[in-house]
Amino acid sequence: MKTLPLSRAVALSLATALALAAPAAVRAEPLPTTWNLSPLFATPADWESARKALLADLPKLTALKGSLGKSAKSLRTGLDAISAANLRFERLRVYASMTQSTDNRDAANQERSNLAGQLDGEYHSAIAWLEPEIQSLGEAKVAAFLKAEPGLKKHAEHLRNSLRQARHTLSAETEGALAALGPVRSATGDVRTLLFNADTKWPELTVDGKAERLDSTKYGLLRQHPDRAVRKQVFDAFFGAIGQYENTYGVTLGNVVQDDTTMAKLRHYPSAVAMSLGAEEIPEAVYRTLVAEAHKGLPTLHRYFKLRQKMLGLPDLHYYDIYPALVTQNKAYSLDDAAALTLAATKPLGEDYQALLKTTLKAGTMHAMPAPGKSGGAYQDGVYGAPPFVFLNHQGEFESVSTFAHEWGHAMHTAIANRAQPYETAGYSLFIAEIASTANEVLLSQYMQGQAATKEEKLFQLGYALERLRGTFFRQAMFGEFELNTHDAAAKGEALNGKRMTELYCQLLKDYHGDAAGVMKIDPAYCQEWAFIPHFYRPFYVYQYATSITAALHFAEDILAAKPGARDNYLKLLASGGSVAPYQALKNAGLDMATPAPYQAVIHRMDAIMDEMEKLLAAR
Ligand SMILES: [Zn+2]
Repeated sequence: MKTLPLSRAVALSLATALALAAPAAVRAEPLPTTWNLSPLFATPADWESARKALLADLPKLTALKGSLGKSAKSLRTGLDAISAANLRFERLRVYASMTQSTDNRDAANQERSNLAGQLDGEYHSAIAWLEPEIQSLGEAKVAAFLKAEPGLKKHAEHLRNSLRQARHTLSAETEGALAALGPVRSATGDVRTLLFNADTKWPELTVDGKAERLDSTKYGLLRQHPDRAVRKQVFDAFFGAIGQYENTYGVTLGNVVQDDTTMAKLRHYPSAVAMSLGAEEIPEAVYRTLVAEAHKGLPTLHRYFKLRQKMLGLPDLHYYDIYPALVTQNKAYSLDDAAALTLAATKPLGEDYQALLKTTLKAGTMHAMPAPGKSGGAYQDGVYGAPPFVFLNHQGEFESVSTFAHEWGHAMHTAIANRAQPYETAGYSLFIAEIASTANEVLLSQYMQGQAATKEEKLFQLGYALERLRGTFFRQAMFGEFELNTHDAAAKGEALNGKRMTELYCQLLKDYHGDAAGVMKIDPAYCQEWAFIPHFYRPFYVYQYATSITAALHFAEDILAAKPGARDNYLKLLASGGSVAPYQALKNAGLDMATPAPYQAVIHRMDAIMDEMEKLLAAR
């Protein structure tokens, strides 16, 4: 998943960025900072011939239609052929998207990206018959084929998942009609994107003597401004601009919720949340337990806000006081520092993990530094049979180090799963995708806390960890609760307009931030924030950020405490790739995400961090 580092709390002047901060180990060769894509294609010309070759082979895939049920052998032949084509398609797609992200201005990159987009459409229509055909075979026949043909074993999870969806699949005619209406149904999201990104006139502000156009990127930066009056001005202007379109945002988001609710009914699901989670066999109890436990843990969140008020020296607390850093740190980390720190922090994961990380770091598959035309943010992408690729925009502050550990956590997950699984079951689900990355962040944070040389440094690290838990656990759980509330309203036949969404969101903001208890004042003007969150257009998605940090914390704490079996369980989870349904895979690793305990541990961890901070502050 893409990481978009939103907060750049610690503004670093590169001129002062000379102090090295990594352990004073003997350094090896500096890491390569641009990637070598030859494990995918040696040259762009090779990519182009591979694309043409795959296009030429697509009719062969279409010709398999109707053959899968003939015999166990023909099922295997068909699925093997589609697997092989799928891998070829993946290589082409990943290469095109990676080259594009390193220079969006390059015409050849743009053209390749367009061609990959076309190929995506053509490839998927060539195999559109596949899932319905598997479902038409039925469970008994598939079970008999699996028994008769051992070569089908690697396809068993795909077959099981396909059959599981059969009762939610409608007649071919209805599915065809829904697919044909797809562009109309998704237009709502396009309207939102255009309104937000293209048509909204973002206000102009003067901050520190400089004229600024307050779009969402600038908002993300300026909301951290140390001057409270500036923050208020920024919030007023930004949410004022969004608030003008409350009615339109209400219609677009209302449509998404309505579409989702209707689709759940049509597809025989008890609710929209059951439909979303059912796609990956996540029990609804996971979602509801997360929301319930976050709500129960609100006193801890309120404790954090009171601590924040004290540390920032404010007479009271408003919603615009959430983002400035509690402690600033003027420390700079080079890319090699980031690698050395990640290696040191992940030592508890064992020698095998360390060896694999070292080898992969040296493989030259990282594009690390900002450059003109390069996309922002960070990601990891991988193709079976090649080492994982990591894309960063290393800037030198601690957050860049944390992002380094995060993306290399994804990369190691990919490398470990690819090593252990056949291609068909190597790809892991979204529900577990953010665990390996976040676990590395937690390990790094714990390591840095242990290494802190001064009280201030320790406070910086503790404050950073605390804020990460607020943003990733509580804030995402609050978003999750908003989605439940809007979908519940729609299921009850309530008309959802912008005004109603603002009311629902306002209540949650007040609950989560302790408005009634006098912890933080929620100004009604900021209750339009729901319109700013694009993730709501992908229903019941963001809760996974909260469940991921919960699981990551669970594994990291157990591993650091050297709990018997903890490390093996965790590494086995990574190695299982997509061979086991994700909720079950976590259960196999000793973690039941439908129970309150893991969420309570997150809240306990936040309290423990605050205990430590208060002790340090008392002695400051
Ligand atoms: Zn990630």
